[in-house]
Amino acid sequence: STAIVWFRRDLRLADHPALDAACSAHEHILPLYIHAPQEDGPWAPGGASRWWLHHSLSSLDTQLRERGSALHLAQGDSLSTLRDLIDRTGASAVYWHRQYEPAVITRDSAIKAALREQGIEAHSFNAALWCEPWQIETKQQAPYGVFTPFWRNLRTRLDAARPLAAPASLRSPAVDGGLPLDALRLLPSIRWDTGMQDAWQPGEQGAQELLEIFIDDALGDYAQARDLPARHGTSRLSPHLHFGEISPRQIHHELAERASAASARRRPDIEPYLRELGWREFAHHLLYHFPHTPTENYNEKFNGFAWTDDAAALERWQRGQTGIPLVDAGMRELWHTGWMHNRVRMIVASFLTKNLRLHWRHGARWFWDTLVDADLANNTLGWQWVAGSGADAAPYFRVFNPVTQAQKFDPQGQYLRRWLPELASAPLPLLFEPWKDPALLRRSGYPAPMVDVGETRLAALDAWQRMRNG
Ligand code: FAD
Repeated sequence: STAIVWFRRDLRLADHPALDAACSAHEHILPLYIHAPQEDGPWAPGGASRWWLHHSLSSLDTQLRERGSALHLAQGDSLSTLRDLIDRTGASAVYWHRQYEPAVITRDSAIKAALREQGIEAHSFNAALWCEPWQIETKQQAPYGVFTPFWRNLRTRLDAARPLAAPASLRSPAVDGGLPLDALRLLPSIRWDTGMQDAWQPGEQGAQELLEIFIDDALGDYAQARDLPARHGTSRLSPHLHFGEISPRQIHHELAERASAASARRRPDIEPYLRELGWREFAHHLLYHFPHTPTENYNEKFNGFAWTDDAAALERWQRGQTGIPLVDAGMRELWHTGWMHNRVRMIVASFLTKNLRLHWRHGARWFWDTLVDADLANNTLGWQWVAGSGADAAPYFRVFNPVTQAQKFDPQGQYLRRWLPELASAPLPLLFEPWKDPALLRRSGYPAPMVDVGETRLAALDAWQRMRNG
């Protein structure tokens, strides 16, 4: 018999429960990817994500070919595509992994019902999370709104069991009509992607290599180095996790193996890293239970907040031309590589929502288009956390000071110099506050600050106080 394995954001062959189950029950497997951005509601993949997707699909196809199969590519309406391929291959079942974006949940439920009505088996599995969002609840049987108790609960459920192996070979039915990858037009027509090309290796192999590098070079020092943007102190696995090229289960297993193989004296503490993956789970838990939060405040009090509206200010932020070095360095890193260090994400987000008092939705949307790891759950949590409007958020009155943050987390200015070439030869401590030397600004062409950080902080606190007073 024949089954279709519908690949979506699970672009790997190892630890792939849908593929594993399909292979156990069927002789022939058709690996399928359907490009259907119109089915993602308002959150079709942005430019950077599309770049990643192109390369990830190419890598998956190569891996499938090594196993005697190939990725069948289609685009258009998902249900019609599945039905057409069921007709042409005689497939009796479709297997896939669940996603948690509201538009995708609605679509998948409709597809599952339609296929079953037609007498076709439809099997969906969890492959993206340690724990399904509905499997974990408070003592009052409600969703969690606070991270620490969520994590305490989730942590007890984790097991570091060996993940599923990739199939050694696959037999696939002959089906014509598959599209060439270029037909999906995922790559930009103006080649702005060279920086991303240098920074990343999309695909399952790239993910495994990055995990190895992280474990060898950074895991032991993660708790200290994860806040230093000049260092490779974090794993940079976020885009690989988003596209499902690696699973949290695989990561947990690998970390636990390494820790238990090390001598007691050299055993790395894997808890701080697992806890960050816990934030990822929390983000998915929140998105599932509060599906309106990608665009609406979790904390409704913020519906009355006095945001400003200033397209020119937004553009200066997007272009990394605010005149505040750490903010501009972050925004340029984002544009160039499709990624930004977590500490810097918090600082640029604080600057946008507090010093410029622009709505967090503007920031979330820009990140959506420019991040290679743009992820509806994590991005929503990140923006609402910084803006103070989210679940378990930082309080609004905690405004990051981008100058002291740079002094603390980039004390030698290496990160600033890397991304602000016009200031590369500026001496410390002027590099942190270049406006203190007007001649330096004139010489370098670096802009004067668009706002006074101290004054705008006070204005933000004032607006927040007015919101609280109703
Ligand atoms: P590591 O430190 O190596 O962490 C490992 C993994 O844990 C990450 O890959 C990620 O999957 C998860 N993780 C770590 N921190 C967080 C967090 N705070 N929230 C949720 N998951 C986390 N992350 C995204 O994956 N996609 C986004 O669109 C996104 N948008 C963000 C927007 C803002 C304003 C902020 C403040 C944070 C955002 N994050 C987002 C979270 C975080 O910045 C990135 O996950 C992290 O920088 C990725 O780098 P890494 O893989 O080296 O992280």
